[in-house]
Amino acid sequence: MARPAKAIINLEALRHNFQLAASLCSPGLALAVVKANAYGHGAVPVARALADLAPAFGVACIEEALELRAAGIEQPILLLEGIFSADEVSIAAENNFWLMLENEQQFLALENASVTEALKVWLKVDTGMHRLGLSVEDLMPAYRRMHACKNVDKTIVVATHFACGDDLESEMTSQQIACLRDAARDLGAPLSLANSPGILAWPQAIAEWNRPGFMLYGNSPFSVAQAEADTLQAVMTLKSAIISLREVVAGESVGYAASWTATRTTKIATIAMGYGDGYPRQAPSGTPVLVNGQRAPLVGRVSMDMITVDVSDIDSVAIGDEVILWGDNLSANEVAGHAGTIGYEVLTRMPMRTPRIYSEVNI
Ligand SMILES: *Cc1c(COP(=O)(O)O)cnc(C)c1O
Repeated sequence: MARPAKAIINLEALRHNFQLAASLCSPGLALAVVKANAYGHGAVPVARALADLAPAFGVACIEEALELRAAGIEQPILLLEGIFSADEVSIAAENNFWLMLENEQQFLALENASVTEALKVWLKVDTGMHRLGLSVEDLMPAYRRMHACKNVDKTIVVATHFACGDDLESEMTSQQIACLRDAARDLGAPLSLANSPGILAWPQAIAEWNRPGFMLYGNSPFSVAQAEADTLQAVMTLKSAIISLREVVAGESVGYAASWTATRTTKIATIAMGYGDGYPRQAPSGTPVLVNGQRAPLVGRVSMDMITVDVSDIDSVAIGDEVILWGDNLSANEVAGHAGTIGYEVLTRMPMRTPRIYSEVNI
């Protein structure tokens, strides 16, 4: 019997979410972002499951792109942070990797490269996030320069990234959309603005290319209800089982640092799931888990390999009973919120140790 901690990855839910993204992006296209090991879900199986749906993939760096190529993924792959050194240009050209570019070193590397295939370039514009991107003033000269470069494909995509797309009240997203559309008006270039929140909630952001990431994995990027986001289906179910049961009486504490003390006679279930399995150590007492489908509160500190849960109010619990840490009915976002972080982080931090079990249905 194997240790019961595992992450079930529902590929049918993944495809459902991609299809939602694709329909919201229509007539534009949705490039599936699978960086950081597909947000912890496994880049190769995720890309394979989307291979007949996604026209292109997006990753952070050439190493991630090469992993997909080695696994037989044939779509173009956009390197969202472009190139880090000049030698990457020829590797990108040989492998049909597209480059998001924004600075002089990158432009020079492209101009000085000797390649047989022209590369597809996306120019990143800084419309307010102030992290990456050309200034609006520098867009036109950079566009002309890349357009004139023999190593660059003539269809150049002009892109930007939102700072506050997840804040439905913010005015910044509309300003960023207007800024990019304005800056690119005379270029006749295809545009790309929207990440998941942009696709879900900002229809004016939809353009020729769109870049869904987090939404593909079935969690909402918003902290409030949102009609489209609320139809997403959780792709990962993190689950394990009860491995021990005991009773403690009022005044007895549980776990490291004795941080939680019983105020009544309490049934404690110990679960084979800890921060070594990707469950956030910061999750405090009171964070919900699902025991036999019912909510029960975590009590005491999260250990590397175990957590302890108050199951006093759950009927007939036994060693071996299933425990769900997140999935349907308890989102990774909700658990992350208790731990002071976001769903993006808890999913992306899922460690190697946790086996990913790929399934076409919910198991
Ligand atoms: C990660 C990333 C995305 C995807 O963002 P989500 O919020 O996960 O949808 C899109 N564009 C760029 C440039 C990114 O780095």
